[in-house]
Amino acid sequence: MKNQEINKQAFASSYGAGKLVVLGGGESGVGTAILGKQKGYEVFVSDAGEIGNKFKEVLLKNEISFEENKHTESKILVADVVMKSPGIPGSMPLILKLKAKGISVISEIEFAAKYTDATIVGITGSNGKTTTTMLVHHILKDAGLNVGIAGNIGISFAKQIAQGSRENYVVELSSFQLDDIENFNCHIAILTNITPDHLDRYDYDFEKYIASKFRITKNQKASDYLIYDADDEAINTWLKDNNTKAKLLPFSLKKELAYGAFLKDNTIIININKDTFKMPISTLAVKGKHNVKNTMAATMAAQLLQIRKEAIKESLSNFEGVEHRLENVAKVKGVEYINDSKATNINATFYALECMDRQTVWIVGGVDKGNDYSDLLPLVREKVKAIVCLGLDNQKIKDMFGNVVDIVVETAGAEEAVKVAHKLSENGDAVLLSPACASFDLFENYEDRGRQFKDAVRNL
Ligand code: ADP
Repeated sequence: MKNQEINKQAFASSYGAGKLVVLGGGESGVGTAILGKQKGYEVFVSDAGEIGNKFKEVLLKNEISFEENKHTESKILVADVVMKSPGIPGSMPLILKLKAKGISVISEIEFAAKYTDATIVGITGSNGKTTTTMLVHHILKDAGLNVGIAGNIGISFAKQIAQGSRENYVVELSSFQLDDIENFNCHIAILTNITPDHLDRYDYDFEKYIASKFRITKNQKASDYLIYDADDEAINTWLKDNNTKAKLLPFSLKKELAYGAFLKDNTIIININKDTFKMPISTLAVKGKHNVKNTMAATMAAQLLQIRKEAIKESLSNFEGVEHRLENVAKVKGVEYINDSKATNINATFYALECMDRQTVWIVGGVDKGNDYSDLLPLVREKVKAIVCLGLDNQKIKDMFGNVVDIVVETAGAEEAVKVAHKLSENGDAVLLSPACASFDLFENYEDRGRQFKDAVRNL
């Protein structure tokens, strides 16, 4: 019997056979519904809001029953297993009821992984997940591996498995996905960093958020690997106080490591498997210290998968980065415009400001998830000549930086912000959109904010 079949049977018996209820009719929910149906489950999708037309069509086409704008408990509490979309908090009364009845509530990743024997590289962290996921995928694909990319990126993992599994997957894992795993495992786990984020979902308890991130290693075995940032205090503390069976592979910008990756004389040096990898950071296509870290992590993952050093270097030198992450938009009258709309917390903006090598007009603001801006003070003092606020409520920003930066202007739209920034900048400066905040007050999402910014720059 094939492994997959055994897995499937174990799954059916561990979760009970038959009824799969999917909560949330978005990408991961609909993907799970398709996979569940294909594997013989009776599937019901329930969404408290409206289900997008695109997804409704897929459900209808696949003859999967669903409801929207409500959760009918009588149809949900009869489930054998429930897949919960990551946007739904575990504290919702319906979820508590399901758990009280002993019904397994799992994430899409948990559900889908049962149906594949693929080698999985799983990536989590507060910042850098998407960049590192794309980078690992880029290297593996360039090297000719049969590899898919999943998680918060593009087509859901579950739908891809339903369409026929690849031999390898690089999977971006949010803490919400990890909260609802039971047996999911990855051969190579990458933990990019841990800084406070999404604390509203963790009772404002940083420890709980840290524990959630470390669930990535909970099912790892001695033959698996955990790649992590050895400069990160929260990570080091957890590793001191807890155990993982995985082999540890640290990376650091601050100290030389006998085993792992470090930086010396602006060159990345990696010692693993009795082999040394060296690459000057000047030859990387992406800039910034955070990207050096992401590169170290991705390179080690590729090395563990036996990709040749020369092939890795070639891929690293042509990886252009990801849209909305420190993306160079254009140079207008000698001013460099940079779109870092995905910077929705302080740590991401810290790295953006840190790699500015010229005087900067900084566009910041939006919906703040409990930011403490004081970490940015030294960088702002050194590099920021003017602040353009782009949010509905800018009080905290004005209070923190009003005495530090001469010019602080409030704006209420991307076009206005770019026009003001244009006026305030001069030849040789940079204009950086790195908001440190979510975008929902003025934009649909961070992509919308980034696109509007870029359009405005191109219209200057
Ligand atoms: P995530 O998927 O974890 O949100 P992204 O790769 O989308 O991470 O990047 C989000 C933001 O964080 C961007 O502003 C990016 O420039 C910044 N960033 C990327 N990698 C790192 C890192 N290792 N540490 C801190 N910030 C980072």
